[in-house]
Amino acid sequence: MAPAEDLLICPDCGRTIPLPADAKANDLVECPDCAGILFRLLETNGQLHWTWIQMVSCPGTEMLVDIVHGTPEGTVYHCNGRPYILTYAFGSYALEEPPQPV
Ligand SMILES: [Zn+2]
Repeated sequence: MAPAEDLLICPDCGRTIPLPADAKANDLVECPDCAGILFRLLETNGQLHWTWIQMVSCPGTEMLVDIVHGTPEGTVYHCNGRPYILTYAFGSYALEEPPQPV
């Protein structure tokens, strides 16, 4: 298995991001060079890997939701039982309340 240090390469700046020695699944790692670039560690069959995510706060509950980079605009997320619509503008994602039925 490759050393953990070689695992995470920032897709934005290309630097290798060192993982903490006790890195484990579900940890959040941030690129030291890029503000707001976050990675969620995941584990599959005992191997750590990562996804590039953005934390977005839900407009209704203020809870933070993981949005995986590359998720298409218009994807519906459910938070606290209510649907929210994913939007993407100026390089970042946001969640918005769906239009209310009149
Ligand atoms: Zn970076």
